[in-house]
Amino acid sequence: MVDASALIATLRFDENGLVPAIVQDSETHQVLMLGFMNSDAVRRTLDENRVCFWSRSRQKFWIKGETSGMTLTVKSVAVNCEMNSLLVTAMPAGPTCHTGHISCYYRQAIGAEWTETEPVIISADELYKK
Ligand SMILES: [Zn+2]
Repeated sequence: MVDASALIATLRFDENGLVPAIVQDSETHQVLMLGFMNSDAVRRTLDENRVCFWSRSRQKFWIKGETSGMTLTVKSVAVNCEMNSLLVTAMPAGPTCHTGHISCYYRQAIGAEWTETEPVIISADELYKK
C-alpha cells in the first residue's frame, strides 16, 4: 500500500492544479497516452489501481475505460526529478486510444504528413457501441 496523501503533498501541480501523467504499457513499455490528473485523480489512481484522469474539457473525473471497457490497471507510479509529472505503468485491457489504436501516438511525422504507422485494433464504433 502507498500513502497517497503523503505522496500527493510532495507533487508540484501546475497553476490549474494538474500534473501530466504518461501511461506506458507495463510489459511492452510502449507509451500509450498522456493525460492530466488533479490531486484527487492521483489519489484514485494510487488507491484504486486503475488510471483516473481529470478531464479538462469536461471538468470531471475520467476513469480510463469507464465507457469503452478498456481500463488501465496500474502496476507502478513514478515521479520525475522536478516532481511535476507522473509516469504510470499499466496493463491495458485493450487498445488505449479512443480511435481503437493501441497507443494515442499512432501517427508519425513523415515528410509533410502525420502518417498512421499503427493499425486500428478495434474500430471506434465497436468500442463505443451501446
Ligand atoms: Zn487517443
